Amino acid sequence: MKPIKISYIIPSYNESENIPKVLEAIKEEMNGQFYAYEVIFVDDGSSDDTLDVIKQLAFQFKEVQYISFTRNFGKESAMLAGLQHAQGDAVIMMDADLQHPPSLISQLLKGYEEGYDQVIAKRNRAGDSPVRSIISSFFYRLVNRTVDVKLTDGEGDFRLLSRRAVNALLTLSEGNRFSKGLYSWIGYGQKTISYENVARECGETKWSFPKLINYAIDGVVSFNHKPLRACFYTGALVLLLSLVYISITFVQIMQTGVAVPGYFTLISAVLFLGGVQLVCMGIIGEYIGRIYNETKKRPHYLIQHTSIGAPKEKREKHAIYS
Ligand code: UDP
Ligand code: MG
Repeated sequence: MKPIKISYIIPSYNESENIPKVLEAIKEEMNGQFYAYEVIFVDDGSSDDTLDVIKQLAFQFKEVQYISFTRNFGKESAMLAGLQHAQGDAVIMMDADLQHPPSLISQLLKGYEEGYDQVIAKRNRAGDSPVRSIISSFFYRLVNRTVDVKLTDGEGDFRLLSRRAVNALLTLSEGNRFSKGLYSWIGYGQKTISYENVARECGETKWSFPKLINYAIDGVVSFNHKPLRACFYTGALVLLLSLVYISITFVQIMQTGVAVPGYFTLISAVLFLGGVQLVCMGIIGEYIGRIYNETKKRPHYLIQHTSIGAPKEKREKHAIYS
């Protein structure tokens, strides 16, 4: 009987120092296990020697596979490429920077053996800057109020997915991917394992503050159009209030004539309405932008080099090979 195969997917962007360490740690964890495994490094257009390091490792170890993009397409695209190319019966998604402790692998596998389709490693926020923690908790509260899927703080991409969960994820082909929401959207039996947050060992985080803000906006608008509805309600409320105000003022004018010229009320109405309109237009624009992006149907990534054989039909839908 063929052994069950686990595919590791490691998105890597300028991680040359970390990659050999991650591989070493995975090998160590898999040593006593009866699973076969492959480790797919997805080089997301790194500008350092990440690809050379991966190629060298692929040459040395038959378990190592790589996919290399023509430029930096972002972690979401890298994860998608990994999922599309993984051959395993289950997939474990891990960062290259050792912030996802490989020591949890055996627990993830145990969850898989128990029959769960998603085994999620959940981190706490120890060691994160207080500002980032506060913003994150605000983000999760906002998102969980607005979107239809449930997102949990600390549950990220570090998880094991069964083959059917992977296949389910691959049927979601949207251009603008927000994985955290997609994992939750597909559902399936889930088990959560908690771990202490670890600081990054080498290199630096690729998340700048503006990138985080953009990610938060993605999270809110990816899953439904409630913000558009909020626009409508705000607009309706403002309209109602101004009608009340106009009626009252009208009655007053009829009774006592025009009093002081209402510079203050006028300017505040203009400013307030202008603000509301701009916010609403921004939200509408966000959705129109997304529709525009989706209609273009561009591939999520382009592959420059890969060690993985000819693409299957389902992969071609998303990627172009050189
Ligand atoms: N990453 C990627 N493409 C990018 C940015 C990041 O593939 O454009 C990878 C990166 O190499 C790492 C993982 O995504 O393996 C998480 O990135 P990072 O550690 O910067 O994020 P953080 O842990 O700070 O959330
Ligand atoms: Mg990290």
